[in-house]
Amino acid sequence: MLTRIYGTCFPTQKELDKYLWQKEEAEKRDHRKLGKQLGYYLISDQVGQGLIIWKPQGAIIRRIIEDFILKEQAKRGYKIVYSPHIGKKQLWVTSGHWDLYRDKMYSAMDIDGVKYMVKPMNCPMHMMVYQSERHSYRDLPLRIAENASVYRYEQAGELAGMIRGRHFTQDDSHIFCTEEQVTDEFVRVMDYAFYFLKAFGIKDYYMQLSVRDPKNKDKYLGSDKIWKNAEDKIKEAVKIKQVLFKIKEGEAAFYGPKLDFILKDSLGREWQCGTIQIDFSLPERFKLEYLDEKGKIKRPVVIHRAIAGSLERFFALLVEHYAGAFPLWLSPIQVAILPVSEKFNDYVLKLEKVLKLEGIRVEVNFDNETLGKKIRQTTLQKIPYMIIIGERELESYKVSVRTREGKDLGLVEVNKFINQLKSQIEKFL
Ligand SMILES: [Zn+2]
Repeated sequence: MLTRIYGTCFPTQKELDKYLWQKEEAEKRDHRKLGKQLGYYLISDQVGQGLIIWKPQGAIIRRIIEDFILKEQAKRGYKIVYSPHIGKKQLWVTSGHWDLYRDKMYSAMDIDGVKYMVKPMNCPMHMMVYQSERHSYRDLPLRIAENASVYRYEQAGELAGMIRGRHFTQDDSHIFCTEEQVTDEFVRVMDYAFYFLKAFGIKDYYMQLSVRDPKNKDKYLGSDKIWKNAEDKIKEAVKIKQVLFKIKEGEAAFYGPKLDFILKDSLGREWQCGTIQIDFSLPERFKLEYLDEKGKIKRPVVIHRAIAGSLERFFALLVEHYAGAFPLWLSPIQVAILPVSEKFNDYVLKLEKVLKLEGIRVEVNFDNETLGKKIRQTTLQKIPYMIIIGERELESYKVSVRTREGKDLGLVEVNKFINQLKSQIEKFL
């Protein structure tokens, strides 16, 4: 019998040590491990593989990310819509998904004798929003946005916790504009993407221009001319922003080329998060129109874009990036109050109330444990600040503050502590 044995060898002890350290570090940061330990999410066999349930600690962070997205989009002129999770099969035939994206879609279901399908993308729903009214050039660009869950079939072996599930929520948007507006709109979206990633502390990413597979052009909608035009527009926008990008064949959407933001997980694997796509085909298939300055009927162009991409994936990569020690504004619990003994419980409850009224996410540790043990528990939970309450603190109306890194900040007046926290948090909200 032939047995194959694989091995990795290292020329020096130093290199082996570095490799082992990196491996250990990656394991510590794995969002699947931290997700369980810190109560972020669960995948239950009773629900099904690849189907993610956000638990309260993860849901708090998701909510902060969503609020950030909604606020930024409002500033940038987006209009929010909501759409259903299923649509008639015919809708997906019109959009081209039925012909070119069926592998990723779940089987049709029968409702009153008509076939319906669960959505793998939101595009056709947003096309309906545009189609429902008449438009003039004055209405454009029209930016429609929705944080919406989509469902895609992924092979069981490809599933990877929250990074790749069988459903996920996109911060999706479709921008309807004239051809002349495309570059400018594309640049605006890039600006937002840079701003977004910076706000969440992500610096390690690169951009990729994803184009058609030249050998399999029949897997895509539209002519060579249309594809060249769309690719040129992306290159024009990228040139304006003076950023570098890689080109990858075969990674385009079936309706157009795209600029992808590629982030890395703790194991160094690369994942697409944000994406900006130019599409001349769906406006054609859905017969979208607007009246130009001369009253002539024209077709708009659609920019599909998602900035976080998938909230689940983006969240998982954030967990790994911070190893669960989120910055204050994103931490599910920002302050833990640790009473030295039950004698201080009344005071601690009052303090908890004050902090809550100020909008600080706070938790009291009433466990009947030693202070040392409580500090260790809080550190493991990666809570940024802990305040210790004993005799000295009660008398002075001050709190003893420690950080999760083990730094002792000494006795601080309650109001001063609250103001310090608020000023750190408000920068991001
Ligand atoms: Zn789309």
